[in-house]
Amino acid sequence: MTTPDAPALPLRPELADEVPYGAPQLDVPVRLNVNENPYPPSDEVVATVAERVAQAAHTLNRYPDRDFADLRADLADYLAVESGVRLDPTQVWAANGSNEIMLHLLQAFGGPGRTAVSFAPTYSMYPEYARDTHTRWVTGRRAEDFTIDPDAAVALIEAEQPSVVLLASPNNPTGTALDPGTIEAVLDAATRVPAVVVVDEAYAEFRREGTPSALALLDRYPHLAVTRTMSKAFAAAGLRLGYLAASSALVDALRVVRLPYHLSAVTQAAARAALEHRESLLAQVADLRAGRDELVAWLRQQHVGGRPLQVAESDANFVLFGVLDDRHAVWQGLLDRGVLIRETGPDGWLRVSVGTPGETQAFKDALTAVIGEKEQ
Ligand SMILES: *Cc1c(COP(=O)(O)O)cnc(C)c1O
Repeated sequence: MTTPDAPALPLRPELADEVPYGAPQLDVPVRLNVNENPYPPSDEVVATVAERVAQAAHTLNRYPDRDFADLRADLADYLAVESGVRLDPTQVWAANGSNEIMLHLLQAFGGPGRTAVSFAPTYSMYPEYARDTHTRWVTGRRAEDFTIDPDAAVALIEAEQPSVVLLASPNNPTGTALDPGTIEAVLDAATRVPAVVVVDEAYAEFRREGTPSALALLDRYPHLAVTRTMSKAFAAAGLRLGYLAASSALVDALRVVRLPYHLSAVTQAAARAALEHRESLLAQVADLRAGRDELVAWLRQQHVGGRPLQVAESDANFVLFGVLDDRHAVWQGLLDRGVLIRETGPDGWLRVSVGTPGETQAFKDALTAVIGEKEQ
C-alpha cells in the first residue's frame, strides 16, 4: 500500500517497467500450458514421500546438510541409469528448480562487464537471469527450422567473447534438440574465449531415439554444464528440484555463490523419496513421447486459411505450431472451451503440452472447432 506522499522506492531503473514471470495459472479443466507431466504421483510414491518428510521433520530444529551429499549421490545414480554416463557426486549440484541453478551459474560466471549469449527463440527466463545478475545479454537467431547454425554460433561467440553461452536442447518453446556437432562446435569456440557452456536439458527424457545427451561430452569439456530438472518428465514440478552435471571444479564455483542451506531438509527428503520411485514416476514418459509424435502428425494435417499448419520438430513433451494470423484469438477460443495452452514463441505460433490421451483429445476437438469457426 502506498500513500500519496510516500517517497518513491529506489528501484533499480532497469526493473522499473518489468513485470514478474507469470504463465497464467487458471483453474480450467484441461491445462496444457506449462509442460508438466499430466500424471500425478501414485499412492505408493505419495506414501514414501510422506514417510521421508516426516522423518526429516524430526530434525527441523537443525539446519540441513548444506552440500546434500546423499541427494547428489542419488542424482548421479539416476543419471547413470538414464544416460549411461557415470559421474562422481561431486560433479552434481542441485537447487530449487533448474531456474535457481541458472541463477547460480550466472552469479558465478556472469556479472557486470560480462556477456551471456543465447539463440532465439528460446526460454523466456534466460534474459531475466542475465538482467538480475547485471550480465549483458546477446542473442543470435536460430534458423528457420529452429536449429542453430554452427558457423553462425561460432562467429557470434568469437565476436562477443561471452563468459556464458546458454543452449536449451530440447529447446523451449520450439522442442528442437541440437545436433551433437553443433554443441561441440560451440564448446570448442567457448574453450578459446573461455566461456562456460550451459546445455539446458530440462526435457531430456523426452528426446527421441538416437538423440544423445550432452552428458556424454562432460569428460572432454570441463567448462560444460548440463542442467536437468525433476519438474517435467519426472512428474514433480511441485517439488522444485533442478540439478546440474559438470566438472567438480565448476560445481565448486557454484558452491561459493549459493545461499547457505538453500535446499531445505524437506526438499532433500522428498526428492530422495521421489528418486527411489523413478520407475513409477517416469512410467508415462514413453506414452507421452508417443502422444507427442502423434500430435505433431495430427497438427500437420490441419489447415488454417487454406494452408497446412506448420509444426516444429519436437524432442520434448510439447509442440509448437503456427502460423496463425491472430494467435491470441485462437488461444482465447481454446480457453473458452476449457483448454489452456501457451501464447509464446515467435509471432503467430502457439505451444501446447502433451497431456493424457483425454486431454490431448479435448485440445484437438477445441482446436478443430476454433479453426472451423475462423474458416466460415
Ligand atoms: C521448464 C523448464 C525448466 C525447468 O525449470 P524448473 O525451475 O526446474 O522447474 C528449465 N529450462 C527450460 C527451458 C524449461 O522449459
